[in-house]
Amino acid sequence: MAELFYDDDADLSIIQSKKVAIVGYGSQGHAHALNLRDSGVDVVVGLREGSASRAKAEEQGLAVATVAEAVKAADVVMILAPDQVQRGLYAADIEPNLKDDAALLFAHGFNIRFGYIKPGTGHDVAMVAPKGPGHTVRREYEAGRGVPVIVAVEQDASGQAWDLALSYAKAIGGLRAAGIKTTFTEETETDLFGEQAVLCGGVSQLIQYGFETLTEAGYQPEVAYFEVLHELKLIVDLMWEGGISKQRWSVSDTAEYGDYVSGPRVIDAHVKENMKAVLADVQSGAFADRFIKDQDAGGPEFKELRAKGEQHAIEPVGRELRKLFAWSSAPDADYVDGQVG
Ligand code: NDP
Ligand code: MG
Ligand code: MG
Repeated sequence: MAELFYDDDADLSIIQSKKVAIVGYGSQGHAHALNLRDSGVDVVVGLREGSASRAKAEEQGLAVATVAEAVKAADVVMILAPDQVQRGLYAADIEPNLKDDAALLFAHGFNIRFGYIKPGTGHDVAMVAPKGPGHTVRREYEAGRGVPVIVAVEQDASGQAWDLALSYAKAIGGLRAAGIKTTFTEETETDLFGEQAVLCGGVSQLIQYGFETLTEAGYQPEVAYFEVLHELKLIVDLMWEGGISKQRWSVSDTAEYGDYVSGPRVIDAHVKENMKAVLADVQSGAFADRFIKDQDAGGPEFKELRAKGEQHAIEPVGRELRKLFAWSSAPDADYVDGQVG
């Protein structure tokens, strides 16, 4: 059984006695900075010159500085810029300005696990990774709840890295739900595998194939959209509440029987072999290398794949239909016209 931590296991005063720099003010950055501030922590947001995020952070009354200035003043530096820019940002603005005994925190183990960032031995290196999007992390905190976090320590220079990480986790509201103890390696490899094989890659491809199969057979795209995409949320909500069993309990016997006989036909044993190959590429660093090389070149492959995804026939159908939905007042207004803000 994994080791779990709750509010009683952490001492909030540890992080309250530190100056914390939050580098980046995007999805995770805004949530961490605001939750820490509201938990009585001294926060400064570090942003690059001319950053589009500056106005948003200042609007919330947060102190904003350049990354270099924020890091210079900080006892704890949480790096919440996108994974692919962290290596360059660390080398240029963080490492040269880091206090000798400053702690480095991450919300994903990517750069440490694959060696793109190699902190000096004097620094505590820890992870506090919310298992949810930043906007949910903020919303849950404001509602008096929290999103579960994963906590890990890669380097315990001070001997107090765990206490610090748990204190930080408590301050962002994570321990109101639970903290789960892990390692950088486990978090990074399972996170990448999960998003590639199941959550993002697997599910998106499954929906697209389902939509293509129905529309190519002559069914109306609007009806196909409802059957293979819209209803997915209702099914996933049931799984989230009570596992696959609750989903099967709730759907009709017809749907449940179809699940048993056709699920393994669609997702057959070969798919598991493919998943193992995906996991092997994650573990070997081959995926990380491909992603970072492409990003370093300006992301040509990434941009091409994104454009191709946006052109899939299901997208315009969904866009038109969602305008008609009474329930489509999406809680995160940041996503507009295919761009995540
Ligand atoms: P975002 O893409 O939302 O980060 C955007 C922020 O980073 C903006 O403030 C942006 O500033 C800044 N930024 C972008 N490029 C640079 C740069 N070159 N130099 C300095 N600042 C830059 O990141 P996420 O919040 O999605 O991810 C942050 C970390 O959290 C990652 O490690 C990720 O894996 C992890 N994570 C993310 C989750 C999520 O829900 N998104 C969930 C759990 C973990 P500007 O306005 O200047 O562009
Ligand atoms: Mg991830
Ligand atoms: Mg149905």
